[in-house]
Amino acid sequence: MNEKSCTLSLDFIRSIIAEDLKANKHGGKVITRFPPEPNGYLHIGHAKSICLNFGVALENKGVCHLRFDDTNPAKEDIEYIESIKEDICWLGFDWGEHLYFASDYFERLYEYAIQLIKKGKAYVCSLSSEEIREYRGTLKEPGKESPYKNRSIEENLDLFKRMREGEFEDGSHVLRAKIDMNSGNLNMRDPVIYRIQRATHHRTGNNWCIYPMYDFAHCISDSIEGITHSICTLEFEDHRPLYDWILEELEVDCHPQQIEFARLSLNYTVMSKRKLSELVKKNYVNGWDDPRMPTISGLRRRGYTPEAIRKFCERIGVAKSNSVVDIALLEHCIREDLNIKAKRVMAVLQPLKVIIDNYPEDQVEKLEAENNPEDLCMGSRKIPFSKVIYIEQDDFREDPPKKYYRLAPGQEVRLKHAYYIKCTKVIKNEQGEIAELHCDYDPETKGGWSKDGRKVKGTLHWVSAKHALKAEVRLYGHLFEKENPEEAEEGFDFKLNMNKNSIERLNSCLVEKSLDEAKPGNRYQFLRQGYFCVDLDSSKGNLVFNRIVSLRDSWAKIEKAQQEI
Ligand code: ATP
Ligand code: MG
Repeated sequence: MNEKSCTLSLDFIRSIIAEDLKANKHGGKVITRFPPEPNGYLHIGHAKSICLNFGVALENKGVCHLRFDDTNPAKEDIEYIESIKEDICWLGFDWGEHLYFASDYFERLYEYAIQLIKKGKAYVCSLSSEEIREYRGTLKEPGKESPYKNRSIEENLDLFKRMREGEFEDGSHVLRAKIDMNSGNLNMRDPVIYRIQRATHHRTGNNWCIYPMYDFAHCISDSIEGITHSICTLEFEDHRPLYDWILEELEVDCHPQQIEFARLSLNYTVMSKRKLSELVKKNYVNGWDDPRMPTISGLRRRGYTPEAIRKFCERIGVAKSNSVVDIALLEHCIREDLNIKAKRVMAVLQPLKVIIDNYPEDQVEKLEAENNPEDLCMGSRKIPFSKVIYIEQDDFREDPPKKYYRLAPGQEVRLKHAYYIKCTKVIKNEQGEIAELHCDYDPETKGGWSKDGRKVKGTLHWVSAKHALKAEVRLYGHLFEKENPEEAEEGFDFKLNMNKNSIERLNSCLVEKSLDEAKPGNRYQFLRQGYFCVDLDSSKGNLVFNRIVSLRDSWAKIEKAQQEI
């Protein structure tokens, strides 16, 4: 790569870091962190942040810490901690020995709060939370000073200690930073930095009844850990002055640089933990790992690979302004990955019986089928062919329209890896529905090629009736019907935008015999149908597949059109 293209490929965060390294700003070190709050499972938006934070650390021989931002005991849970660790590992990143918890800093955070009080930079305020909100003012109006703002340092120290000792009711007092009630930035209008909250913390139990607020805990945790670049999403831009104010007032040794980037939004889904959690808790989906969820665990169960998710995060890039990414790009990335990796097999989702009249009754031939024409190193397998087979119902029309190249009365098609067949008869049941087809095959077309150069336009997938295995196949649509499910009037319930047909279960599918050994997590291309993954519900003799994506790639089409412009 020449120097020009190298600079071009750097996003604005990587450019800042490169400049800092050049200027030896942090002693040539890069230390980042990924700071999830353990109040839900990670989603694809978090994957963007993980790839960025772990990515820039790796690229610059630095380290990335995993820090659980566990300062709100009411919503946090150990289950979330375990799932977050599992998801980060699965994505392919490693925090090594750098696993931290903001709760491990509670004692130090308390001491820093005392330090602020002693400097006259924090005070105990006894307004109610409604009053605090009211006094805060608005973007247009300045705030009003709290009547408690001028309490003496001694009184503040005494009250704050007694808050810690549990002398006061929840909500009766808070500790606030003493900054500026006239600031144009609402975050600087004497923000609350500690609150009384009697709640059992998943790590510190009942040791504490006061807890630090995010803005106070986060910058100090970054500083304690010696973070060089504190990368976060855009909504924290207005919090940066507070981040810097706290660290300047406390005169800490390490003052990390906060840099904001645009969060990922995807169409046809929601990406807030609060909303995802509501879908899980109210049973709108079957858990956090429901294959329709945009969570990492949902995508994993659906069949996404870590490589495809990392590639997606690379393709969307890192920018400073918010935008919505088309979910088709995510789907494109998994297709691209599985196109070269997944074994191609045959499965009939909606079977139609076909009897080949001129094929010997008990004969079974083992036909050669390559596993992936994109990669011949993946080898081949033998698939059984016999007198009775199944094809897809959709692949036959009694009364075909023009340019219908699949099977129809009198029409000839190729059976993939097998023979040419021609339909001779249609048998219907009492209701007049098609029950089975009779065909003749041409023994001179073994392997699917005619020696006399006769061409057919349609190639169908099939399975041998005697050998096929029954399976359930689950097809998924978008979780939401609307492209932007959150775009609605105040008070509108986003759940009303859910797609009622986001899952379709097909219970009488037939798959080729070689899938006998398929295990949960194995991925395949079902010829002409898409990419599929064996679901966790699957077991030997009771196969269940999730469709990851169909083969139709709308993103590739968009890209092609753009190139042609
Ligand atoms: P949510 O808004 O989904 O509830 P959050 O920001 O509260 O998420 P955290 O656990 O605080 O979730 O997030 C951990 C890190 O992941 C933060 O640094 C946050 O900025 C980042 N992050 C969260 N959502 C996204 C997103 N959609 N795109 C990029 N980064 C994100
Ligand atoms: Mg958060």
